[in-house]
Formats: sequence, structure tokens, C-alpha cells
Amino acid sequence: MLKHNSKIHRRTWGITGAACLLLAGCSQRSSNKQKFESDRPTIVATTGMIADLVKRIAGDSVEVTQLIGNGVDPHLYRPSSDDVRAILRASLVFYNGLKLEGRMGDVLEKKSESSLRVALCDQLPRDRLLGHGGDHGADSSAFDPHCWMDITLWELVSIRIEEALADLLPDRKKEMNQRAELLREEMTNLHSAISQSMQTIPEPRRILISSHDAFQYFGKQYGIRVEGIQGISTTSEAGLRRIEELVDLIVEKKVPAVFVESSVPDKGVQSLREGAKQKGWDVALGGTLYTDALGNEPPVDSYLGMMKHNARTIVEALNGTPSPALVSSRQSSLPNDEASLYELTHQRFLNCRVLNCLGGAS
Ligand SMILES: [Zn+2]
Repeated sequence: MLKHNSKIHRRTWGITGAACLLLAGCSQRSSNKQKFESDRPTIVATTGMIADLVKRIAGDSVEVTQLIGNGVDPHLYRPSSDDVRAILRASLVFYNGLKLEGRMGDVLEKKSESSLRVALCDQLPRDRLLGHGGDHGADSSAFDPHCWMDITLWELVSIRIEEALADLLPDRKKEMNQRAELLREEMTNLHSAISQSMQTIPEPRRILISSHDAFQYFGKQYGIRVEGIQGISTTSEAGLRRIEELVDLIVEKKVPAVFVESSVPDKGVQSLREGAKQKGWDVALGGTLYTDALGNEPPVDSYLGMMKHNARTIVEALNGTPSPALVSSRQSSLPNDEASLYELTHQRFLNCRVLNCLGGAS
């Protein structure tokens, strides 16, 4: 018990300390603001999920340019001439990699001495990556790029972002580390809340069917079968045969709901519902999920808000019960029981081990 209390005490102190540091930073920031704005380095991030992490960690130390807007499909996005200029001029470019930004690949992968490029998911441990169809892939050209769908992987990505920002701005390393730790704490808490909530979905209902195959990492982490109408990318349309396969699955398993995705047209999902109805099964529309892009309004305009919204929507539509942390309007909650604290500590330990792996990656 003493151990438990001391853990809480350390954590409370850590958070209070971080808040003090941030507040102290505020007054210093306002006095330095004018000078600072003119020489802030520009960081380019391709997707909203990456830009959100960069902003949370760097605060106002940098200017962040997000290339692919919220609500826009990264698989199909073609870079404009302004995007190319932004990439070439940036101090640092963070992109997802694993061919998510398929039509930007040439620009992003082109070597440049003036702007450092970091392909975030390319640097994750290989044994944590999935291939097409949710298997572990040996061929790097076939890795599933939707790594942000596993919060524990996105925590590792936040460590890589923090490292690259600290190299660029060594004077701000300490305050960025405080912000990054707070962010990772929120990520760990949300991961726990999603794990608990997903387990409340009755076993036969654990089938997640959506517009394209973006949920394999999510499915593996939280124990739910995942089926996409389109494949791992949205570049090719789903065939009639795939629609028929899924209609049969929905009818056979009595799947209660299917889901549309905010950045993908809903034509395929409507075909599934019509097909199932013709076979005598009414499958509901479970709601809109945010998969490859953030939304424009809170709470889905942030990474954690998007993951929380998705989990709650899935759990409710598939007859589960979301935990209070998923239903609350607060962005995050601190763990309030010993099991969650244990998990947080254990996750930290795992992260440190993987950090060493990442440190060795190029
Ligand atoms: Zn996708």
C-alpha cells in the first residue's frame, strides 16, 4: 500500500511540476514572444495525427505546417507546388512512411541536406508491424501503414518525434520532455480505457467492418476481427465479390452495425446494408469513424480525441459498454486504481526498452 501511495505521490508531483513549468514558461514566453516568432523553425508534418503530436510536444517553439488537411485521404493526396516548397524549406519533415503518402513519396524520400526527413512508422520495430491482411509482414513494401491505430505504437512515434525536436532545439529539450511525458501518460490511460471497453463487446459481436482496411493494428491490439471493404489503400475500388463476401459474413454472424469513415466515400458501406437487407438482416450504420485523417471540430481534431471517439462509437454500436473514461468529455483521466498504475509503469518500462531499439534505427 505504501508503495502504491508513493507511486501516486510521485505522479502527482510530476504533473504539478509539469504544470508549474508550463506556467512559468507562459510568462517567459510572452516577454520573448516577439523575438521568438521571427526565428521559430518550421516543421512540416504530412498528416493531422503527426502534426498534433508535434504541436503537443514542441508547444510554440516551432511553426507547424500540416500538408494533408483534416478530412482528406492521404492515400490519394497529390502534393501541390506549395507543399513541395514547404518540404524543401522546412527544418524538419515528419511523415508517416510505409507508403501511406503514396503520391508524395518521391518528394518526401528525396535526400536533402537542408531539411531532415523522418519516416516515423518506418522506424518502428519490425516485429510490431503488420503486413497486408493483418499478418506480420516480411516485405517492407507490403507493411500496413496505419500504425497510429495502435496507441502503444504511436507512443513510440512520440518518442522519435521528441528526439528529433530535441536535436533541433537542444535549449528546449527539458520542457519538451515534460510535455511529451504528459502526452504519453494520456495515451497510456486512453489505451487502458479502450482495452477495458472493448472487452465488454460480446464475443460473437467482435467484428469491425468499415470502408477500408485501416483497423488491423487496432484489431490486433484490442482483440476484434477487422474487415475492410476496400484494401489497405483506398486507391482501388472494392469488387463485387468482396461486397458479396462481407454481406454473407454480416448475415451469418448477425453483425449489428457497420461503419463509414470520414475520409472515404460511403458507397461501399451502403451496398453492404442493402445486400444484407435483401437477405433478411438489418445491419445498422454504427456511425462515422476517423481513420486516416482527423476531423475539423473537437473532440476529433486531435489524435487522442479521434481514438476516443472511434472506440466509443465501435463499443456502443457492437453492444458493449464504454468505460466512464471513454464517455467523459474530458480529453483524459488519470488512472485511479492500482491495476492502471501498474499498467502505466509496465508500459513505461516497455517503451524504454524499445527506445533503445529506435535509437539504433536510421
Ligand atoms: Zn488508409
